[in-house]
This record gives sequence, C-alpha cells and structure tokens, in this order.
Amino acid sequence: MEAEKHYGPVWFLSGEKGGRYPSCNAIFIKGPNILIDPTATRERLEQIHDEEGVSEVWLSHVHEDHIRHLSLFADCPLGVSREDAPGVTDIELLLDSYGATGNIREYWHQYMLDKFDYHPRQVSRILQAGSVIDLGGITVDVIGTPGHTPGHLSFYFREQEILFLADYDLTKFGPWYSDRGSSIADTVRTIELLRKWPARVWMTSHEMGILADNPGELWDNYLKIIDIREEKLLDLLAEPRTLQEIIRACIIYRIPRKPESFFDLGEEGHMRKHLEKLIAEKRVYREGNKFVRV
Ligand SMILES: [Zn+2]
Repeated sequence: MEAEKHYGPVWFLSGEKGGRYPSCNAIFIKGPNILIDPTATRERLEQIHDEEGVSEVWLSHVHEDHIRHLSLFADCPLGVSREDAPGVTDIELLLDSYGATGNIREYWHQYMLDKFDYHPRQVSRILQAGSVIDLGGITVDVIGTPGHTPGHLSFYFREQEILFLADYDLTKFGPWYSDRGSSIADTVRTIELLRKWPARVWMTSHEMGILADNPGELWDNYLKIIDIREEKLLDLLAEPRTLQEIIRACIIYRIPRKPESFFDLGEEGHMRKHLEKLIAEKRVYREGNKFVRV
C-alpha cells in the first residue's frame, strides 16, 4: 500500500498499516485545501498543516477513528452532516449515538480521550446529502450514505471520477451498523447505491485504500457478511438465548477478544440490529429475557 497518491488535486493520504482501525485513510483536496477526515498519520497532517495550510475540515461521519487528529485543526471551519453533527460537539452525545451504557460507556469515554484526543467542536458547515459543491474546477458530489451512521457521507470527485466510499470499506470484517442510528436496511440500500455509482477509482477509509478496478464481487462478498451473521444468529437460536448469551457467541468478532468492554459494544450493537430485523420479520420473538426462533 502506497503511503500517498495524488490524482491531480485529490490526494489520498494513507493511515498507519494501510488505514487499519484505529487508523484511517484521509483525503486532501489541494487548491481549496480541504481535508476530509483528519486521520492518516499525525506527522503527515502536521506537515500539510504547516506547508499547505488547511482551510476547512470535512468529516465523512462522526466515529472516533475519523476525528482522531481533529485537534490539530482547532481553528479550521468544520463541515459534517446534520445527523452526525451532535457527536462532534459533545462526547456524551457521541457515546449516546454508540448506544454505550454502564461499564462499556465508562471504558469508551476514557478510550476516546486517551486514544482519539476527543475535544468538543462547533460545526460551521452542514454538509447536505445530495448537494454538489463547486470548489473552482473541482466538483464534489456529497452523497448521503446512511446505514453505517445515520449521517454518513461519501464523496464523488467528478473531474477525477474518484468515489471516496469512506467506511463502506469492503473489508472482510464486513459492514458496521452497530450504532443507535445505524440500520441494516439503510446499509444494504447504500451499498446498492454505491456499487452503481459510475467511477474510475474507488477509495476507502480502511485497508482496501485505493481500488483502480471496479470492486465488482467485493461488493457481493461485503453484503454477504450481513447474511452470514444472520444465519449464525439463527443457528444459535436453535435454543432460546438471552442477549448476554448471544453476545458471548462472538458472531461479529468471531473469537472472544479483550478488553470485553471494547468489543462488547459492537457485538451487542450489531446483534440488537439483527434481532430487531428478525423480530420485525416475525422469524424471532421474545419470551421473557430470551430470544426464540419461530
Ligand atoms: Zn465509521
């Protein structure tokens, strides 16, 4: 994975280990000097800050890894979607959006301060899904791509024909839809929208990085992970199970991992989404504190 690649004014800045979580890849738009997701590496962002100057920071969405080095740009106007904006203004609102409670919330609160340098910020520009922003010869489509978070945005650079997918990252881990405002149905709709979007180059926030060929079956594999998770859950529900038993089955992370307070957040969040879906489809029902397969 190359550390950095320039497509005219669109610069792809690679995160550590190819943008593997908790790192992240970033985009810098040279000319208007807009940084999308203040991530990549702190060293490279410091350099860009000092040598290029950054006029504005935009966020694809508000998750801890995508705001990791936001504090380097304390004086820059900040653009984010309306739906995701609250989490950047107040850590408690971000933890609310994660659905974090009890010990898990305490853990994540500290983790965001220690690892992601969380500082509350005011939002200066609401990035409107469906809008087209003319940056003087660089035309950017702001694409509403809810599911991962309710206000997740992807960006299309028309002249360069580059589609920045952000966290629809095509990884083997699969799509993330654990937050309170996340949705499996929206995730599926968004993936269908993105896979049909005509582009020449695709960029992701994590691991895949740059794809010069149409992702094609990578989209199928990515979508399939949602079904595999559901099948595993239905298999587990051959016997009625409590939510705690379902969490301990590690359907999302596959094997038990430490610290539990970190991994349980996503494990529980995803399982809740699948249970809600299956209950709505009348394939599962609740009896006392147990979930029962029909
Ligand atoms: Zn994310």
